[in-house]
Formats: sequence, structure tokens, C-alpha cells
Amino acid sequence: MTIEQSTKKQFIAGAKCPQCNQLDVLVFYREDAKPVRECVECSFREVLTEEEKQKNNLQINIKTI
Ligand SMILES: [Zn+2]
Repeated sequence: MTIEQSTKKQFIAGAKCPQCNQLDVLVFYREDAKPVRECVECSFREVLTEEEKQKNNLQINIKTI
């Protein structure tokens, strides 16, 4: 059994997709050490910069699944 931690995705609790406007559809994971937000319902995908990460830090509540 191998646990693949590098591709682990976490749902962002209470987050709304800016593209399809659905709730609890955004996942958060790291790609090449950069944090990425991605929607599981549509094609929305956003790589967060350090600045954006800090700006949004207080509002992001990550729920481990
Ligand atoms: Zn979406």
C-alpha cells in the first residue's frame, strides 16, 4: 500500500467557486510547491501567489477529508 501525499486534495469548506457559483466545490492542493485552487464542477483553476495566499489566509478554512 502506498499513500500518495503529494497529490492530496482538500476541500475548502464554505468556499464558493467564482466561475460556477456553487458552494463546497473548491479543492486546494500544492503543485510544484505552489498552492492551487480548483473547482471539481467546472474548469475553474487558480494558482495562488504568496501575496494572494496571505490576503486570503484568514478566510480559508480547510477541512481535511
Ligand atoms: Zn466551478
